[in-house]
Amino acid sequence: MIDCPTCKGDGVLRVFSREHPIIPCHFCNGEGKVNDIHLKWMKEGKILREKRIAKRLTIRKAAKLHKMRPSDLCNMEIGLIQPRKDISYETIKTIKQ
Ligand SMILES: [Zn+2]
Repeated sequence: MIDCPTCKGDGVLRVFSREHPIIPCHFCNGEGKVNDIHLKWMKEGKILREKRIAKRLTIRKAAKLHKMRPSDLCNMEIGLIQPRKDISYETIKTIKQ
């Protein structure tokens, strides 16, 4: 187990909310520690996110392209769940703005 990279091992996150300024960390479920596998997923997810952004795709559009829910793709990008191997943006043209 390693210190959670999201909350730095605190188990809580400080957010801009008046009612709940401190919330349990969503990444480690408030435990402050995560399994090493999450670190691997985080690295993979970060690459996925960078590739998606390079193509100027929103989470919603990218999820639709891969026939998945935006929340699942979001969780893959932050390393909460294992990133799918079949996600690729190589063949997708960059969307002009
Ligand atoms: Zn955490």
